[in-house]
Amino acid sequence: MRIGVLGGGQLGRMLALAGIPLGHDFVFLEPGGEAVRGLGELIAASADDRSALDRLMATVDLVTYEFENVPVSAARTVAARLPVFPPPEALSVSQDRVVEKTFFRELGIPTARFVAVDSRPDLDRAVAALGLPAVLKTRRLGYDGKGQRVLRVPADLGAAWAALAGTPLVLEAFVSFTRELSIVGVRGRDGAEAFYPLVENHHRDGILRRTLAPAPGLTPALQAIGEGHARRVFERLRYVGVLAIELFQVGEDLLANEMAPRVHNSGHWTIDGAATSQFENHVRAIAGWPLGSTAVRGAVAMVNLIGTTPDPAAVLAVPHARLHLYGKEPKAGRKVGHVTIVGASHTALERDVTVIEALARG
Ligand code: AMP
Repeated sequence: MRIGVLGGGQLGRMLALAGIPLGHDFVFLEPGGEAVRGLGELIAASADDRSALDRLMATVDLVTYEFENVPVSAARTVAARLPVFPPPEALSVSQDRVVEKTFFRELGIPTARFVAVDSRPDLDRAVAALGLPAVLKTRRLGYDGKGQRVLRVPADLGAAWAALAGTPLVLEAFVSFTRELSIVGVRGRDGAEAFYPLVENHHRDGILRRTLAPAPGLTPALQAIGEGHARRVFERLRYVGVLAIELFQVGEDLLANEMAPRVHNSGHWTIDGAATSQFENHVRAIAGWPLGSTAVRGAVAMVNLIGTTPDPAAVLAVPHARLHLYGKEPKAGRKVGHVTIVGASHTALERDVTVIEALARG
């Protein structure tokens, strides 16, 4: 099949690296496209360029996307002519935090308490309703911790309002979580579902730094809750493809923070650490093919390379380290690659992870 991808960053790159061996061709619609160079045809334009979208549609069998800020209108334009997976509805849910949290709650999936904020009096009312601490976020276009401020004391409101006002906002109650987890699952065109184990995610400055898979101490009960959340989303949206849900663990429960209707950074470990990667499973799902096993190969750690590329030889000198570079120019805060290590247990991996993290810091 010829697969059209809206977007062409590292996720598009890893989709192609998984899909090409299965016999697929890729066409990317992406203004830059350095990460997908050599992996398919590139239409150097964004998805809101109608003539570029027409050129893409004329040459592919189906379309998917690899970033969640694709204009919903573009996805719907494509859907009128060609299969688009995941469904455009998933995009419109995930692009607005209020819509997303309302959607979760309607499905019985718990979230932080939240109040939409459109004015300064709204903010005061929201703080009165939720209390402090709380997190003020832009409803749309926030990522990697951008577009949010933690409010700890009433004096924080003014600066947070000054920084974020001018766009619709949401105030969320601050969740004192035990840890941050995520679940990655996949649903096929025939409705078959498969889930990877919950993973533990460590962020710094709002950016994912490290993922441990499976999440240390993961119990079947917690896994069942995570799968239950994802299954409800799958079924409500008649979803096809890979979905990730970012979760806060509170006691033995899981609150949904946000969902990504695409392959996800916290699933990169599956390339080296699972029988079938999230990328291959996404391609299988959208192609209408059987899903691959999500079985795990051991304890896995994934370390993101952010802002700087370490010496590849130094990384590869660590036994069992697998290096993935994205072909992107290093820039502060930019994800330029990741390293995966698979071992017998998380304890056994600790020393190597420390070495990789030191190399990652440059
Ligand atoms: P987000 O952009 O929603 O993924 O938030 C980025 C990070 O901020 C999360 O990974 C959490 O570490 C933290 N965070 C976001 N929302 C909350 C909340 N309601 N309570 C506590 N921490 C939060």
